[in-house]
Amino acid sequence: MSDEPLLWQVAVDAPLAEALTYSFSEPLEKGQLVNVPLGKRKVKGVVLGPSSKVPEFKIKSIDSIDQEYKPLHEPYLKWIEWLSFYYLHPIGQVFQSAFPPLRKANKIRTSKRAPVIPQLMADSAMDLTIEQRICFESISKFSGFSTHLLFGVTGSGKTEVYLRLLDEVLKKGQRGLVLVPEISLTPQLIQRFARRFGDKIAALHSQLTDRERTNQWWDIVDGRKSILIGARSALFCPIENLGLIIVDEEHEPSYKQDEKLKYNGRDAAVMMGKQMNCPVVLGSATPSLETWKNAKDGKYHLHTLKNRVANRALPTIEVIDLRKNKSDDDLQKLIIQKYSHLPFWLSPALFEKIIEVLDKGDQAALFLNRRGVAQMVVCPACGHTKECPNCDISLTLHAGSHLVCHYCDYHENFKLKCPDCAEGEMDAIGLGTELLENDLRRLFPGKNISRADRDEIQSRADLEDLIEKMEIGEIDILVGTQMIAKGLDFPKLKLVGLVLADVGFNLPDFRATERSFQLMTQMSGRSGRHIKEGENPGYVIIQTFNAEHESILYAQNNDFEGFAENELNIRSSLNYPPVGRLISFRIQGPHLGKVEDAARLLARRAQVLKSQNTNYASIEILGPAEAPLSKLRGQFRFHLLVKSAQGHVANPFTRQLIGDQGWVPSGIKILVDIDPMNLL
Ligand code: ADP
Ligand code: ZN
Repeated sequence: MSDEPLLWQVAVDAPLAEALTYSFSEPLEKGQLVNVPLGKRKVKGVVLGPSSKVPEFKIKSIDSIDQEYKPLHEPYLKWIEWLSFYYLHPIGQVFQSAFPPLRKANKIRTSKRAPVIPQLMADSAMDLTIEQRICFESISKFSGFSTHLLFGVTGSGKTEVYLRLLDEVLKKGQRGLVLVPEISLTPQLIQRFARRFGDKIAALHSQLTDRERTNQWWDIVDGRKSILIGARSALFCPIENLGLIIVDEEHEPSYKQDEKLKYNGRDAAVMMGKQMNCPVVLGSATPSLETWKNAKDGKYHLHTLKNRVANRALPTIEVIDLRKNKSDDDLQKLIIQKYSHLPFWLSPALFEKIIEVLDKGDQAALFLNRRGVAQMVVCPACGHTKECPNCDISLTLHAGSHLVCHYCDYHENFKLKCPDCAEGEMDAIGLGTELLENDLRRLFPGKNISRADRDEIQSRADLEDLIEKMEIGEIDILVGTQMIAKGLDFPKLKLVGLVLADVGFNLPDFRATERSFQLMTQMSGRSGRHIKEGENPGYVIIQTFNAEHESILYAQNNDFEGFAENELNIRSSLNYPPVGRLISFRIQGPHLGKVEDAARLLARRAQVLKSQNTNYASIEILGPAEAPLSKLRGQFRFHLLVKSAQGHVANPFTRQLIGDQGWVPSGIKILVDIDPMNLL
């Protein structure tokens, strides 16, 4: 008899919490991709190791080994196991992200598409500023696992620090992984890396074809390329000999995947650094409070860039209190008269500033986090509002002609006559980017005005086209949603206006203030990034009905630390993250009554579990309650939140509460979100 084990644990591609046992007569290695039978199906699976289980019933045999892939390495396997355990997701399904979408290409086929990585003349490293050098040197001292926060104001040259760190990693013969939010993964950014590292770069993002994605994946796995730059899913590329992981804009909520495996790419990157024993660098001008607290508590090393490069000043931020325009002293009356042609959303100050900037041949950008012409249409006679039939939210008016649901994309034609009382004529209330664009065209005839929101920019090609037009100065005024608030760098952009800061303040989410602060700071960061010595700094105007709102005051003073301290105190008093832990359970289904019953059942189980175990004393159970979006795409939604001042008990509690889901009534889905970012 050989020593070779005959039984193996295999994580199969199915919604099973645990691995299954299979037999195989030939030698196998951990991490090997295999084909196995499951019921009547054939599925893929990954070998986790020998099984010591005494089989209770007949064990099926592994069909074959997939020879295309060599076994996944041990630290990577450990990382996948952690993801599955921590986020309560079936391990076999987590593994599915570990492989490229297609088989390896055996012939190089020529493609008409532009190469994924452009071939550019190499440029050499710049001389680092003193601040950059201090940060670079203190991070590059580390070679084993350690987490670093590179906290640098917008335009302080964080990217240059990343490039230098990667350079060191390559010199050691190791490889690097750079994560950026999908929206920042523009040609601008890829070119910057390609210019420095030439043909050593591979990229993974959502705009690649399956073939391109597969080729990029193999370029890294076969070792032809040594730096992978990509969106959060790039983490799943099994890179051996990893020397550094960088997570740029680490505060971005888009690092969190909202469906299936609900992982946070930033947190998963730190865990990967731990398994691979390499440093992890998180960069931001507005770090998440989670990361900031870790830095303050000494878990992460803090490195700060306080100044923009080349002594460029940060922009001047002016706050316009929209309420004050209603005063009735004489001067004010004159002003009101002079500007009576302006739409209600445009203050005289912002209007004048746009004129000033355009006169100099520079550019202005206006942000509003709302699309369309108006948020809602309402009948003034009976109060009827048009709501989406699938979702419990009002429909938005677009182009004055149709109503659209911003969640499920339901469309209908806009009819003036109220469908309910058949008397009144529907009024449009609110504002959106489309309305802004229309008004600006009227106020600035002859100027080039472009809009960037999900209605206008539907593909990456659209976005790239827009970026190019901004870069060459073909656009005078850019109007957009937060889509354009992030990461972009336009030399001639000198004025940024936030049309209505209040939009973000009142969302039913404990992170609303943090999000508002981040948005204002990031948005301001787009202004005046390339001013020359002696030139006036960029300008930012924030319009609001809440001029005293904390997030505005701190953003105006560029005071992230003050903001963070204040906000952490508030979080602490309520045990919200990052001080406490939060887990959300969404209960959904097509019948309201059943959803409500299931939500009550879940809450009762939670109460019983808490009362039976003193370890769970710190657990708070909030709800069940109707979710803020109580109906979405025909599904009714309730939620239950579990909050815990003692972080480490929240996961075991959840695991016990959910159990094998055998108790969940039919027709009901319970979706668990660990460390949720989206509470709607
Ligand atoms: P951040 O990522 O912090 O917003 P960037 O890395 O994009 O900042 O740098 C802002 C600008 O400053 C870029 O145009 C970059 O080329 C330039 N820059 C960065 N470091 C230096 C340096 N040491 N000397 C001169 N220019 C620099
Ligand atoms: Zn809808």
